[in-house]
Amino acid sequence: MGDGAFSNVYKALDLKIGQKVAVKIVRKYELNASQRANILKEVQIMRGTNHPSIVKLTSFSESPEHYFLVLELMEGGELFHQIVKLTYFSENLSRHVIVQVAQGIRYLHEERGVVHRDIKPENLLFDRIPIVPSKNPIHRPYDEEKEDEGEFIPGVGGGGIGRVKIADFGLSKVVWNEETMTPCGTVGYTAPEIVKDERYSKSVDMWALGCVLYTLLCGFPPFYDESINVLTEKVARGYYTFLSPWWDDINASAKDLITHLLCVDPSQRFTIDEFLAHPWINAAPAPPPPPT
Ligand code: ADP
Ligand code: MG
Repeated sequence: MGDGAFSNVYKALDLKIGQKVAVKIVRKYELNASQRANILKEVQIMRGTNHPSIVKLTSFSESPEHYFLVLELMEGGELFHQIVKLTYFSENLSRHVIVQVAQGIRYLHEERGVVHRDIKPENLLFDRIPIVPSKNPIHRPYDEEKEDEGEFIPGVGGGGIGRVKIADFGLSKVVWNEETMTPCGTVGYTAPEIVKDERYSKSVDMWALGCVLYTLLCGFPPFYDESINVLTEKVARGYYTFLSPWWDDINASAKDLITHLLCVDPSQRFTIDEFLAHPWINAAPAPPPPPT
């Protein structure tokens, strides 16, 4: 299904339950002690999560050479590939995708005290292959029940797009103690910069969410340069534009939302609750275009 630096992900059949699963096999023998500890942390964080927008870990085991993470199979593959395939997503379809991702982030940030830290289209997976007709889209209002029958996709029509889920907790981190909702570490003795750091650490996911939404809507990322130094400088300054003609027909409200996410000062950046309350997120799907 995919490869990482130290792992390969395979489609497999769980003989006990007769169900298809994904198995992430990590080459333990290539990892040093701290990298091994990171895999165990990834497993621990995934074990504690239970949300429809988060890929489930069903079991974990290890041999002397490998770690085996048995995961819910996401047959539809990466959001990244769908963007490449479709060039870009309609506003309705982008909203449908980003809301699911945002609900997963809300759960991580507010119920688990977890920051993902690696939100990107390669780590957002579809539970089944989205059926998206390329021609003659039929615009109909979104209906979640019908969508499950593979009836249609908002703003695209036909097929069905299923669920999008967050995968890859390899860089994720627990920042808040779940019970006390205080920063990790000794309460009362924590320095202000740590408290602030931990508060703002969630905002890295919000920046990434802004990058994903930007990319969904136009088909290319907000920050890009062939030179890594120039790219780094662009990101550091938050230098991006809504490039014409690609952005010309996209609603001003969508641009307003992105502006509140791709904002260099983390204290000014939208939190997940502000994101979910924004008018563009809560807008009804666009009406059908007039027949031609
Ligand atoms: P890495 O930390 O190496 O990036 P990931 O967990 O992101 O590892 O997995 C690498 C790739 O494998 C993903 O980008 C995706 O294409 C595929 N993959 C991962 N988990 C699943 C899954 N549960 N179902 C289907 N494909 C998966
Ligand atoms: Mg990954």
